[in-house]
Amino acid sequence: MKTIKIILIFLFAITIMSCNINRKKEIKTNKTIAQRVDSVLALMTLKEKIGQMNQYNGFWNVTGPAPKNGDADKKYKQLKAGLVGSMLNVSGVKNVKAVQKIAVEETRLGIPLIIGLDVIHGFKTLSPIPLAESASWDMKAIKNSAHTAATEAAAAGINWTFAPMVDITRDPRWGRVMESAGEDPYLGSQIAIARVKGFQGDDLSAVNTIAACAKHFAGYGFVEAGREYNRVDLSLSRLQNTVLPPFKAANDAGVKTFMNAFNDLNGIPATANKNLLRDILKGQWDFKGFVVSDWASITQMIKHGYAKNNELATQYAIKAGVDMDMESSDYVNHLEKLVKQDKVSVNLIDDAVKRILTIKFELGLFDNPYKYCDEKREKTIVKSSKINKAVLDMAKKSIVLLKNEKKLLPLKKKGLKIAVIGALANNKDSPLGSWRLSADANSAVSVIEGLKKYKGNKINYAKGANVTVGRADFIHELKINNTDKSEFNKAIQTAKNADIVLIVLGENAFETGEGRSRTSIGLPGVQQDLLEKIYKANKNTVLILMNGRPLTINWAAKNIPAILETWQLGTQAGNAIAQVVYGDYNPSGKLPITFPKNVGQIPIYYNHLNTGRPDKPDDNQVWWSHYSDVSNAPLYPFGYGLSYTTFSYSNLRKSNESFNENGKINFKIDVKNTGTREGEEVVQWYLHDLFGSLVRPVRELKGFNKISLKPNETKTISFTVDKKTISYFTANKKWEAESGDFKLFVGGNSNAKLSTDFSYK
Ligand code: BGC
Repeated sequence: MKTIKIILIFLFAITIMSCNINRKKEIKTNKTIAQRVDSVLALMTLKEKIGQMNQYNGFWNVTGPAPKNGDADKKYKQLKAGLVGSMLNVSGVKNVKAVQKIAVEETRLGIPLIIGLDVIHGFKTLSPIPLAESASWDMKAIKNSAHTAATEAAAAGINWTFAPMVDITRDPRWGRVMESAGEDPYLGSQIAIARVKGFQGDDLSAVNTIAACAKHFAGYGFVEAGREYNRVDLSLSRLQNTVLPPFKAANDAGVKTFMNAFNDLNGIPATANKNLLRDILKGQWDFKGFVVSDWASITQMIKHGYAKNNELATQYAIKAGVDMDMESSDYVNHLEKLVKQDKVSVNLIDDAVKRILTIKFELGLFDNPYKYCDEKREKTIVKSSKINKAVLDMAKKSIVLLKNEKKLLPLKKKGLKIAVIGALANNKDSPLGSWRLSADANSAVSVIEGLKKYKGNKINYAKGANVTVGRADFIHELKINNTDKSEFNKAIQTAKNADIVLIVLGENAFETGEGRSRTSIGLPGVQQDLLEKIYKANKNTVLILMNGRPLTINWAAKNIPAILETWQLGTQAGNAIAQVVYGDYNPSGKLPITFPKNVGQIPIYYNHLNTGRPDKPDDNQVWWSHYSDVSNAPLYPFGYGLSYTTFSYSNLRKSNESFNENGKINFKIDVKNTGTREGEEVVQWYLHDLFGSLVRPVRELKGFNKISLKPNETKTISFTVDKKTISYFTANKKWEAESGDFKLFVGGNSNAKLSTDFSYK
């Protein structure tokens, strides 16, 4: 017996040695990545393959329900046994190195981990929240922002981000609206491309690029009533024409991974949705990367009432096309048995593992598992001035000027007595926004700090009221201050004694983000009351909004003379806001999402379908599509935003009246700066397809161009319509162009009036 044991140990040692030798030989080879993947796969046991499909959270920083201590211990042992392929929420070179060392040096095959993190709008140095960045309509800036985030995260050991979130959403009640690019599939697609390219660059193996992840596939932005994780019921047309385009764009841009959604789609959980994952994504779109589940979404299919137990949940997920299990432990616990019972084909496992290994090779992890673990690089890059400069640039471009009566803004730089009111003005944490896992608390430049860099004016600050009560963090429910007005009087007095008031109101960072849906979206707590009282004390009031979602601010829109939408702008928030307030940057942002008048109007979005009774009858009858208590119009439309200068549009012209399958029409428009300052304008053009096999939206964004104009300067903008521009997913259940008549609109927002007609024969 003893001899057999010795022989077995000897054989085992030889196997390990030969595997390591293989890995080394493997590294020196000039085989293609596909060949290298095959040779690694050939060495793997079924258990090890399944291990690659298993992803665990780091044991100390969670973005979902935390594992119990016992679990953490078990997971740690699995890591040592080569049963973990990826970890998330482990960051910083020291920490990443520690887990990578176990994977590479203590497991039989030494396959490196891929390290994921939600680098949603930066790593330690934060850019504006994604919704804010989207308001820039500046694809170069957005790409650069993602590249900046990738550079900083990669320097801290990360090689995969769970971004961009490309879910289209028309529901500001949903907390994750802050993480989205807004309501429009065209704008959303352009932003998806910019972000994927920014994160991944041209060379994934470079030390300043990371793999991106298009999420959440699919439909999550349409959770019923805007309630987090709720059901999603979508028509095929809405799925194809609205929800899928940004995912398709991300895939075409080469995104390396996808994440499935938490929600069910028309009754089938996205995690088990074969139609989405195998037929559309991996089939029609030929996606070559891998799909990761959302946090424990495999196990959650039991709670959904879809899978009776974990074994079935596992089967459904792998068969549907989920390659990696985030935090369910279902794959590692059940797949081996299911393969042995012939309930899951080993081919599915091999396919998933190949996809995962391919990206590890592409990241260069097999050649050097520690390539993202250079402490010197981490020190030089993280929080560097170069990174801060980049996020400041993005922050300025994300601000939207909603109103500016009597040219209250920009402010003079000298001789003013300014009252700055509002707890958010003095807050160094909230501007960081939600989803900022690695950022240091209180690391943003506050509005006051930004304003104080301009020394010519005198600033008096009064808080007025707190926005929240007690703790505000990523995990727990927030408490809003609904009662404490004890500091109102001091603020009113400060406002009375000032030439101008800058009042900073809005949401705490943790009022939006995952798990933070709201049914009322006005200014939270006592802030509306504060605003009204301050305005009464001083009519020269500028409202600076800081929020992660559209807010219903009717009173302010009607009464307050100047309003700046500054969202949550990240680390450099205060500097960006001050530069806009003083006119060193002329605001150029446009809303990527409609602002409703009240919650009852939701969902409200510009590219809706027409009804059979859209028009108000002359004799005031009620038989038309409307509400009795509020108009159909939004408070601020999609694409809207002002500048310190003004623009005019004229001379819209076209090369022909119609075109056919191989043809096109060229359009031209003259845009002039009619004000006295240099400024940027987002020239937008929309189409209305008058009749279709399916009712067509009243207008759809088809292109835009952000241009800069000096006073009195005119630029001619050209754009083209061809078959692709007018194609949509028709009643024939395919993407095609239908002949007919079209109207084209051009202007500075989705209400653009200038139009011309054309037809497709
Ligand atoms: C979110 C994902 C995120 C994941 C990992 C989930 O709760 O829905 O978007 O990437 O957690 O943090």
